[in-house]
Amino acid sequence: MGKITQHPISNNQKNFVLRRLIAALVLFIGTGLLVIFTNFPSSAVLNQSYKCRDIPCNVSTNYSLGKTFIQKAHPLPPTLAQWEDKTNSGDYFSQVTSTQVGYFVWSQFPIRVKVETPKAISDKQAQAWVNSVLQAVQEWSVYLPLVVVEQPEVADITIVRKAPPLQLSPDGKKPRARSAQTTYELYINNNILKHRFTILLSPSQTGEYLLAAARHELGHALGIWGHSQLQTDALYFSQVRKPPSISVRDVNTLKRVYEQSTSLGWSVSAIK
Ligand SMILES: [Zn+2]
Repeated sequence: MGKITQHPISNNQKNFVLRRLIAALVLFIGTGLLVIFTNFPSSAVLNQSYKCRDIPCNVSTNYSLGKTFIQKAHPLPPTLAQWEDKTNSGDYFSQVTSTQVGYFVWSQFPIRVKVETPKAISDKQAQAWVNSVLQAVQEWSVYLPLVVVEQPEVADITIVRKAPPLQLSPDGKKPRARSAQTTYELYINNNILKHRFTILLSPSQTGEYLLAAARHELGHALGIWGHSQLQTDALYFSQVRKPPSISVRDVNTLKRVYEQSTSLGWSVSAIK
């Protein structure tokens, strides 16, 4: 069993942290960027970061005991069945994680999306926020049927303007802010295994960055549980200055996800 121990920070360490902070600040001012791009010191850290920037690194569930799950593919939704990539752009399906319940495939359409109206800001700002998020919903609805619902109880995906909890860096020492987070929950309804997502979009995101964050997180919630390594894809692991729209590779990847087997949407039987 792991045990959490806390080490007091020595003055040397404090100085080191301070120096790093100043160095980071100088870099930021030096480049004059409006968006702070994460500065990865090594590829090892980068590898871990692109997997779990805004989605959990370790996918586990509590449903593995006492239940057996069948795993099989659902028929492709017509929107994806019709999708054809004539440009041969490829995909990043190899970066998409399967879970204990298989791939995150929706099988009941339309997928119900609730966009929570923010309360802490003016009506005008709240409307602008909702409109940006709705645009991202609109963009994805070309590839999967989505419907916006008013009641939170019936939502498959809930999108909220709220800062995600601080995340510890891969070395486990310094907490860092995230621009967005998507988490999932499994539940059983009428003996069918189901999933739902909550997307948190940080209030720090506005304008085209808000739209880009909503587009990216929706991609996760629709089934792309992983990140692209090309910055021309909406599911690229980091924020970029000119956010791309949904790419051919994004849709190719989504289609491959929907061809995979899953336990979601199928009935659950208890082990006797
Ligand atoms: Zn992501």
